[in-house]
Amino acid sequence: MAKSTPEAPSIAPDVLAKYEPVIGLEVHVQLLTRTKIFCGCSTRFGDPPNTNVCPVCLGLPGTLPVLNKRAVEMAMRASLALNCTVHDHSRFARKNYFYPDLPKGYQISQYELPLATGGWLEVEVAGLPAGAGAKKRVGITRLHLEEDAAKNLHEGFSQSATKAYIDYNRCGTPLSEIVSEPDMRTPEEAYAYLTTLRQILLYTGVSDVNMEEGSLRCDANVSVRPRGSREFGTKVEVKNLNSFRFLQKAIEYERNRQIEVLESSGRIAQETRLWNQAEGHTVSMRSKEKAHDYRYFPEPDLLPVHISSAWREEVRRTIPELPEARRTRFANSYGITPYDAEVLTNTQALADYFESVVKAGAPGKAAANWMQTELLRLLKDLGKEVSDSPISPARFAELVSMVESDKITAASGKKVLSEMLETGKPAHIIVEVNGLMQMQDQAQIDLIANEVVTKNPDKFKEYRFGKEGLLQFLVGQGMKNSRGRANAQVLNQKLKEQHEKAVGDSFFQRYNLQQGASYSFCRLGTPPEPDLVYSDGKAGIVGAEITSTYLNEKEAEFAWQEARGKVGTGAVWSSGTIGSPDEKYKSQLAGAIHKKLDKTYSLDPTWLIVDFNYPLGDAKDAAEIVRQVALEIGSARPMPFAEIWAVWRVTNIEEIQFEVFRIV
Ligand SMILES: [Zn+2]
Repeated sequence: MAKSTPEAPSIAPDVLAKYEPVIGLEVHVQLLTRTKIFCGCSTRFGDPPNTNVCPVCLGLPGTLPVLNKRAVEMAMRASLALNCTVHDHSRFARKNYFYPDLPKGYQISQYELPLATGGWLEVEVAGLPAGAGAKKRVGITRLHLEEDAAKNLHEGFSQSATKAYIDYNRCGTPLSEIVSEPDMRTPEEAYAYLTTLRQILLYTGVSDVNMEEGSLRCDANVSVRPRGSREFGTKVEVKNLNSFRFLQKAIEYERNRQIEVLESSGRIAQETRLWNQAEGHTVSMRSKEKAHDYRYFPEPDLLPVHISSAWREEVRRTIPELPEARRTRFANSYGITPYDAEVLTNTQALADYFESVVKAGAPGKAAANWMQTELLRLLKDLGKEVSDSPISPARFAELVSMVESDKITAASGKKVLSEMLETGKPAHIIVEVNGLMQMQDQAQIDLIANEVVTKNPDKFKEYRFGKEGLLQFLVGQGMKNSRGRANAQVLNQKLKEQHEKAVGDSFFQRYNLQQGASYSFCRLGTPPEPDLVYSDGKAGIVGAEITSTYLNEKEAEFAWQEARGKVGTGAVWSSGTIGSPDEKYKSQLAGAIHKKLDKTYSLDPTWLIVDFNYPLGDAKDAAEIVRQVALEIGSARPMPFAEIWAVWRVTNIEEIQFEVFRIV
């Protein structure tokens, strides 16, 4: 198992607060040209070692470099996207040092007159919600062109211990070095800067910025100073930061290390340190005090680079809309959240795909959701990028639109999408062949709800006993039985009705036993219509029960009129809901009933039904309580009700049953 990364030396928050880290990044990026910067050799990654070489890039005597125009254009494009000034005149220089990966004994780079200077980019600081406007501008000192060195292969050979193995394929690959101002103050800001820079380089097509293949490399300059100080502390260069996570860890470690040195009255040495990921710390590599003098001088074999304003403008026109601008536009024009916009502009391919889906007619928000939750996940499982998605944006848009317009359910949509990926068929064909059109027919869904209840008697009973979470399970069963075709909302509604019907049935069963009447239970409509309507086989609607959840005057009045209008002598059935039985039970009960009565009086009902959805305890006690309340009602004013009934759950029995009796 890989060794986990140890934490940086921990520093007490109050000590940490005394210091301010100052961070600058130097990024080397390989430019996406087909050939090398000074010769015609291929830059392809992964070819057999030393197959893409020639006398020029091997530095053989008598050869002369010829500048690759495309490399200059790529670097110009990056410079302009990073808001740099691309200079009319720049010049190559020789950077002299001796190392086996540098066959000429010098690297052709730019020194005094770099290609571009004075840019900036805006980063969104991590830890704050995307789009929250927590933006920071980080300056870019310079961007210059240079050639890459060859690659040392230290490991994996039989004589690795005594011999150096060098692959010259990389030697002469065009690089841009992008140096930031020391504007960053936290490891998170450095991370945000590198992420943003990477995204811009990707969008502009300047580089594939693949850290694993080494086409993006990063070194950090880190120093700390007492907070409030204007002087910079001694700077340490940290190398070998070959992943985004390492970068943040290494800077954090280095910041803490330097604070520890200063806290123990030590002196920070100006040096280059190497990040050791396995050990989780930086180690000194070489002291800068003893650094070589590179003896830079203008490269005599190359003419100075001249860039006309016409050329510069031509290159500027090739720069596409950049991530930041695209994010803002997406959020504004497609009604998606800043977070969605952030995710969907992560790469240009993703953003292009999303935009094509919306342009093909899918609603923005739904397209964003379906892409993020379904399409990207499925593609990831297949190991594919969105750019090689087997489903075209137009076909994906068709699927999203079918779900959005309720032609198919979301559950079917997921199935159809998987099949689209597998078979390459369009959504409407798959829907037709498999009969997946959404089931909207109420009677059909009713049947499914009935089936769920019959097949899951135990679960349904638990649900009736108050385990409300089981409704989702039951809906899930119904969706399964309908092969995902039932309209989930309608099914949900139908199952609730089944529940109320079951509760009501047991109530009426008992009521009928006592009264010998033939009441049946039915449910009409949804709020603000009465929740439950009681009807008699002969008389029609005789009463309405309004649950406390829905009871307001308007609803009660509706119920009253509904009942009166149909049979003339209807009654309002009022339910009272109170907390669980305890010491305060009686006052709670009276309070609840009075609250209901205030509304009930104004409706001039003929019956009062006090309905409890839970056991009242001992039936005798409960009857006594209700009787007392009835007395109170009667004593306060002339008794307004012809009859008062109480209904409550009987305790300690398996099935839900209701005790029903007349009090007055
Ligand atoms: Zn070559």
